[in-house]
Amino acid sequence: VNSCGECEQCRNGQEQNCLNGNVGTYNSEDVDGTITQGGYAQKVVVNENFVCTIPEGIDFDVAAPLLCAGITTYSPLARWQVKEGDKVAVVGLGGLGHMGVQIAAAKGAEVTVISRSLRKEKEAYELGAKHILATGEDEDFFANHRGEFDVILSTISAQYSLNDYLQLLKPRGIMSVVGLPPEELGVHMSSLVGGGKVLTGNNIGGIAETQEMLDFCAEHGIGAVIEKIGVNDVDDAYERVVEGDVKFRFVIDTATFDD
Ligand SMILES: [Zn+2]
Repeated sequence: VNSCGECEQCRNGQEQNCLNGNVGTYNSEDVDGTITQGGYAQKVVVNENFVCTIPEGIDFDVAAPLLCAGITTYSPLARWQVKEGDKVAVVGLGGLGHMGVQIAAAKGAEVTVISRSLRKEKEAYELGAKHILATGEDEDFFANHRGEFDVILSTISAQYSLNDYLQLLKPRGIMSVVGLPPEELGVHMSSLVGGGKVLTGNNIGGIAETQEMLDFCAEHGIGAVIEKIGVNDVDDAYERVVEGDVKFRFVIDTATFDD
């Protein structure tokens, strides 16, 4: 919700990477020393440079998760210039993955969802994927799909083998990581050196790019797939998130705060 506005990163539209520390929405020290109070409110005061316009054609509720899951997946797909015909794998079909699939498909890429099972097969196709592959249903999965993808967007937040996934890239392919496994993941340098592959990461995006993402989503009729809840449903929704039972984001209707 704020940054210094003066450093090299801010001047280059990378406010999230502000060298003086970006100001997060929640419990973060603002430039005036006050502590930010989060976004679960009917009104919030922010620096005007950090306000985006929700374009016509996207409802506020499906737009809300775009400000996190949307930009986190849009930014790497833009940075690595995903284009028509590219073979893109989105690993994991949760809150981030379901946006990655829609945005990559809207850019004309041939999108494959890679998941542990085929449990979300129907959703994958509905979101625009051409294929879904289950790692848990093929013992030789990584060998069988070696060298298939131009770009892999990994949203996995559990432990996994980077070396396995790097095998799935074409030479000079790019693996962009947006999920955060709890422990460090090792990489054999041969996984990168052979084929000149790129391993990179991404965290949200700058404000101008966030607006670009919103405009892109409006133009392509994309929004988050959500379940809207009232304030009294928050505890139940939290439990369901912990159990992985959400397709794909809960959105709290702040109008219910009056209750
Ligand atoms: Zn800065």
